[in-house]
Formats: sequence, structure tokens, C-alpha cells
Amino acid sequence: MQHPTTPNIHASAITPAKINWQMDDTGNKVPVSGEFDDVYFSHADGLAESRYVFLAHNQLAERLTNLAPRQCFSIAELGLGTGLNLLATWQLWRELRHAHPHLATAKLHFITTEKHPIPLTDLTQILALWAQRAPELSVLTAQFLAAYPPLIAGCHRLNFLDDNLTVDMWFGDAADSLAKLALDTSIKPAPYIDAWYLDGFAPSCNSTLWAENIFAQIQRLSYLGTTAATYSCAGIVKRALKDCGFKIKKVKGFGRKREMLTTIMAESTDLSDNCSDPHDYPDNQATNSAHSIVIGAGVSGLMIAWSLANRGISVTLLDKSAPLAGASGNPRALLAPKMTPIHHVDEHLHSIGYLYSSRLYRQLNKKAAKQNTAPVLELTGALDLLIKANIGTEQIADYPDEMATTLSLAQAQETTGLKTQDLSENLYLPQSGLVNPQSLKNTILTHPLIRFQQLDVSSINEMESCVRVEGSNQDKGAMTISADNVVICAAYESHKIDQRIFDCRKIRGQLSWFTPTTKQLTNLPKIPLKYSGYCAAFTAQADDKELNDVVEGAAHLLLGASFIRNDTDTDIRNEEHHISREKLVSAIPEMESVIPADSSLWQGRAGVRTQTPDYHPIVGRLAQSRRTWVMSAMGAKGYALAPICAETLADMMLGSFAPLSAAMRARLSPNRTRLQTPLS
Ligand code: SAM
Repeated sequence: MQHPTTPNIHASAITPAKINWQMDDTGNKVPVSGEFDDVYFSHADGLAESRYVFLAHNQLAERLTNLAPRQCFSIAELGLGTGLNLLATWQLWRELRHAHPHLATAKLHFITTEKHPIPLTDLTQILALWAQRAPELSVLTAQFLAAYPPLIAGCHRLNFLDDNLTVDMWFGDAADSLAKLALDTSIKPAPYIDAWYLDGFAPSCNSTLWAENIFAQIQRLSYLGTTAATYSCAGIVKRALKDCGFKIKKVKGFGRKREMLTTIMAESTDLSDNCSDPHDYPDNQATNSAHSIVIGAGVSGLMIAWSLANRGISVTLLDKSAPLAGASGNPRALLAPKMTPIHHVDEHLHSIGYLYSSRLYRQLNKKAAKQNTAPVLELTGALDLLIKANIGTEQIADYPDEMATTLSLAQAQETTGLKTQDLSENLYLPQSGLVNPQSLKNTILTHPLIRFQQLDVSSINEMESCVRVEGSNQDKGAMTISADNVVICAAYESHKIDQRIFDCRKIRGQLSWFTPTTKQLTNLPKIPLKYSGYCAAFTAQADDKELNDVVEGAAHLLLGASFIRNDTDTDIRNEEHHISREKLVSAIPEMESVIPADSSLWQGRAGVRTQTPDYHPIVGRLAQSRRTWVMSAMGAKGYALAPICAETLADMMLGSFAPLSAAMRARLSPNRTRLQTPLS
């Protein structure tokens, strides 16, 4: 949402596309870019042109058909625009996967950049133009529109799991976005782009996409055999592609157009300068991996298991106790972001992670429904009273409404049900809600490639050809399991398993809940609230294991949470119930008469959160290690951070492009300098 009186001046904030409609020479309405004054596509044959120029002249059908199991093919597009190229590519990929069973575990990664993303309402209208002419796209169009992210800068990952398709939408200038796509030289061979769609309007309308810095990135991200296609035959394009090492060929253009360019990288690009982490082991056997062991079945372990399994990797998920026995196993978790001023948003893990998690959990809701499991995310929205927030209403106004906005006093009162509270300053988060950890776990553990095994791990040995994990199973005694690699997700106990992992802060946190009376219930906040703590009403489900005497359908009020440093006990403490109650009633005095002061009938659950001194999680491969990876230290934000961290780690393990920039991955590295100094 743009604040009416303060125009958005931040360089990294996104200016959405302004769509104008014009009649083309066949008398049909076509969308025209207000920024570049060029048509997005021709109504008569835009889709056929897209298939001809970009799909056929990158030889996609043949190349995709020839993929090996678990192989990933990466396409990069300059200019997402209306998404027509993406939809055409997706549809081809779907057809090929139906026709060729050997593609079941192969993956398509579509990386696209867009400086002026089209607002959802315009995009919906534009894509509706194809409903009659290309009904084969309509199912995909609906999925694409449903997953379309808010228009904020940075990478938005969309996973279409049924089709093994990952779409990374990098909103921002293509030169900046491509620069963030690091070649991860800890992986050999490093990931590179297989095919480029150069689709940035005609060079005469838009020089920025045909500039030297863009071609430098194209060269950096290409390798022998990479192809590129474009409708433009302008001299500047031909020369630049030749200078990058592409062998160019002019071929007949689409329809009435005389010619177009199809090109192939014929000179090898030197990848050796791109090494970002000097600790990384120089060769990577993980690219051949088929089986991973994940140690720790909290939210981190579950999410990395899920990300690997979706890439065709078999996962043995280990835990000394049951899944979710640790800090991630609360009855509900509030999914709500820490916000940042919008000019930092593209490099802000909490924002990127929150949006990705919300999208993923909504997708998993569909799977959960099919399995008759409760929703993974109950999309309630949440209101932050801005008591402990690091952003004010002026800065909230820079955000698109669908991510963050401010409600009027009347709306805030209506939405929360609060009567006397000063709600004039607030942050409303429409995509926020309550995560049901048991439901998430049940949905993930039904993946056919994930197997849970109880094991108290005592040691890990990296061998030449595999890694061996030893431990003891409560029924079978000593056990050894081998795999291609191992991911340690054991929170604060990770350090015990491998001393090279930083010994993190341990912070005890207790969550409290009680069953309100019918009278109390009518006066409780109607949606989750954030203040210095948080509260949320939820309804018990049959599989709510943490509740005593579960009465399905009974309402509860959850209050969170205490933070006690250096305390790893998990007993339930009455005084911490009171701390959480006190946080609520001091922020919202009208709750004093609603929340019982006697907590003797309250329930609670305590867990130990793991935190680094710089508050960033730990994600990456251990120094000088070939097969040992870590994902840990999510603090109290596991449900917001673990899904995007898991996608990033899985990409690093398997040699594909990650959804986090190189700089951000360096900040998460287990080998970062800040973690080399002892804990203060
Ligand atoms: N591929 C699109 C489709 O399938 O609908 C059409 C792309 S349209 C011809 C060109 C797109 O490039 C526009 O959406 C425009 O906003 C985008 N663009 C222009 N300059 C850019 C830049 N410097 N960085 C990123 N995107 C840019």
C-alpha cells in the first residue's frame, strides 16, 4: 500500500507495472506497459510466439525429455511480465512428464526476474484473455495466480510440487537479481543456467535489459552448452552475446517477423573465481546423493526432510525421541513476521521466510485436507499492537496491503473484538495465522521417501564413499545407518553431536493455555494478537497430543511465552504462566477481568530454543567436511524460517540455485566468523 502523502522513495521498493490497454491491428485488446510503452504480447499469436521463440529455439522438448532421474534443468528469464512464457513452459513440462515416466524425479527450475511486477488484479484480467484461446493453460493459470506473491523486492519461491516445478521470482532490477544468483562453487559442478529467455521488450524501448552488466551476468551464469533465445536481432544484442562466448545463429522469426536469434555457449566460462566461502570443501559428492540422514525431527529436521524428499532423495529422519518432542512441539505456533523497513526487505530473512512459509502451509492445507488431517495453517490474520515492533505505521504504509497494513480504529476494534484498547497504531498481517505442528508433521511424514527411525545418535563418521551414523535404538540397541550425507538439525544438542557446530545460547520458553468459560470466551480477542508476548485462541483437534483430556472442538487460549536464558529444564512453572498473563494484561488492560488470575488449571509446555549471538540461524556445510551439513538455531521462529532455510540447504546440497542471495547464505554459514569466537 502506498501512503497517500509520502511517495515511496526507497530504491529497493518495487514500482508495480502500470498496465494500459490498447487495440491491436486485429481489433483485440492487448496489455501495454506504461513504463516501456510496448505490448506484452500480441493477442493474435502471443502464445504461439512464446512457444516458437523461447521453447522451440532453446530445444526444450528434447532437452527436458533427456533429463536423468533427479536431474534439475534451470531456465532463466529476463522479464516475467504476464507469465505467459512460464505457463507455456510449465504446460510442456507437464506433458513431457506424463509421457515419460523416467522424468518422475527430474526437476524444472524456472528463475525469472521482474522490475515492475504486474499487480494481481491486472494480471488476472490479462491472463483471462487466454481462457478461450488456450484452455490448456487454465488449470496452471489458476495455480499461478493463487501463488502469486505480494509485490515486494527479493526472491519469492513458488513450488508446484505435483509437477516438480520450482519458480523463483526475483522482483527488482534484473542486474541486481542475477548478481545475487551465486554460483556455489562448494558444489562441483556449480549450478548454471541451461537456457535463457531474453524477453525484455525491444532494446529500443528498454536499454536496461540489454546492457553490459546484464550480459556480464548472463556470461557468469552460463556454461558450455547453455542456450539463449530472443526475438531481437539488434546489433547490440548480437555483439554482446558473441562477446559472452555464445555462438549465434539467425533463424526465421515468428510469423511475419523476418528473423530471431538462437544461440549456444561455445566457450567455457571460468567458474573458479566465484568461491564465496573459503572453508568449503572443494569437491562435492553430494550431487550424486540418493539417500540423506537427517538428525533431529523438530521443525528444521521435518522441513529439510521434506525439501530433500521433494527432490527425489530418500530421507531417514532420526530423533532420540518422537518427532516434535522438542521446542517445536507446541500445540500451535503463531506465524507472524518480524518486520523491517521496506528498503531492507529483499535481504531480510524474516520477511522472505514468512511469505514462503505462509504460501507453503496454505499449499499443504490441501494435502492435509485430502488426508483428513486438520489444516496446517489456520489463516486467521493477526494484529500487532506495535508495542515491541521495530517498525511504525509510516513504514508499514510502504508495504503492499496483502502483506502488511494498518487497520482503522473501527476496523481494528471490529476485527479483534477489543473495546477499550487504544488500537489507533497497529500492524495487521492478513497472511498470518496459527500453525498446527502435529498436522504439519503428519502431512510431511506421509511422504513416501521419508522414513522416521528412533535413534539416539552417538557419532558420525564420514567415509570416502558414505557417511555412517551410529547410535542406540530403544528396542534394537546399537545401530549404524549409512547414507550419502547427513544433516544435523538437533538444535542446542547439535554441538554435542559434532563439536564443530557452534555451541549456541539455550533459552527456555514456556507456553501456557487454558480452557475459557463460555463467558470468558465471548470477551477474548477474536484473532491472534502480538504485543510483548502473544495470545491466540484455538480450537482443539483430535490429534492435539499436547493437550490433556483433548475435547475435540473445545476452545483454548494460548499465551506466549517466557524467555529464560541458560535454562534447559522443561518443567512447567506457575510463575511463567503468570509472566505470560502479565504481559497480556499490561498491554491490554481490559483482559484483566477476562483472563483468570488463578492459573492452577492451566496447562503448559516448555522447550529450549537455540540462538546464535547474531540471531541468524545456522545453515550450510561444515568447514572441511564433505558430507556433514547443519540446519539449526531458529530461535523462536522455526515455523517462519525453517521452510526457506530448508529449500536453500537442499539446493546447496544438490547443486541448484538457492532462493537466498549469496550474501545472505554467507550470513547463515556454520563457518561464519561470528561463530568462531566463544559465546559471551
Ligand atoms: N516474458 C513475459 C511474458 O511471458 O509475458 C513478457 C515480458 S515483457 C516483453 C518484458 C518485461 O521485462 C516487462 O515485464 C518489464 O517490466 C520487464 N523489465 C524491463 N526492464 C527490466 C529490468 N531492468 N529488470 C527486470 N525486468 C525488467
